[in-house]
Amino acid sequence: MRFLCSLPSIKKAKTVLVGVPYDGTSTFRPGSRFAPASIRESSYGLESYSPYQDKDLREIKFFDMGDIPLSYSDVQLNLKIIESFIFKLLIKGKRTICLGGEHLISYPIIKAYKRKHKDLVVIQLDAHSDLADSFRGEKFSHATVMRRAAEVVGFENLYQLGIRSMVREDRLLPKRKENMCMFNLSKKDEYLKEIGDRPIYLTIDLDVLDPAYFPGTGTPEPGGITFNELLDFILSLKGSRIVGADVVELSPHYDTSGISSITAAKIVRELLLIIGD
Ligand code: MN
Ligand code: MN
Repeated sequence: MRFLCSLPSIKKAKTVLVGVPYDGTSTFRPGSRFAPASIRESSYGLESYSPYQDKDLREIKFFDMGDIPLSYSDVQLNLKIIESFIFKLLIKGKRTICLGGEHLISYPIIKAYKRKHKDLVVIQLDAHSDLADSFRGEKFSHATVMRRAAEVVGFENLYQLGIRSMVREDRLLPKRKENMCMFNLSKKDEYLKEIGDRPIYLTIDLDVLDPAYFPGTGTPEPGGITFNELLDFILSLKGSRIVGADVVELSPHYDTSGISSITAAKIVRELLLIIGD
């Protein structure tokens, strides 16, 4: 099953949807490996037209190419597979919107994008800063992913919004220009202005949403933003240079209502429409 309104082949597509069904380092509640399939299925509960953007998915040339075939247990091997899979698409002139999986998948994707875009900026929406240097002895985990990514792009090029959970040291990292908007997205205009026309990789950890809106996730963190606030953020990206994006940490089985999966699918629809073709 492909996402609603996907083209039947990659040929004419500029934007490619890629599933990355990996949750091997999830510590609290695993299950995000089931998210790509659940998002695709839930997309058929939506309509293709967005009244927010007055645009229809049928006007967008995108292709849902399915999931990256991954190893079940070998973290380093998976990181390599993901990076080379994404880099191959980038050198063909495609841009990607990846469906996680857990947040660690963003690290190899960002590495691939950095190889193509030397002045890459990363915007992260998340409840958690994900800046730990290691987590329970693991250097590569959903809790360290943004520390690893910042080592690739530079801490000054990482912009974090919606953060409400961290260890104290995360705010004191050496040589770090702290672009961290706590609790909400209120600094988005300031950050987007500062970024200007540099290429942006956007990573949305869906637990940035309040668990009341989005219970289907591995590490729910109360005190989050509303769906409409996240939607406003996406709409404000019009005119910014988004070169790639991901939507991670949906764990569909923790939400028996299915609303979390539908929410994720709707976010993907709006991302597809704002990033364009
Ligand atoms: Mn995260
Ligand atoms: Mn998170």
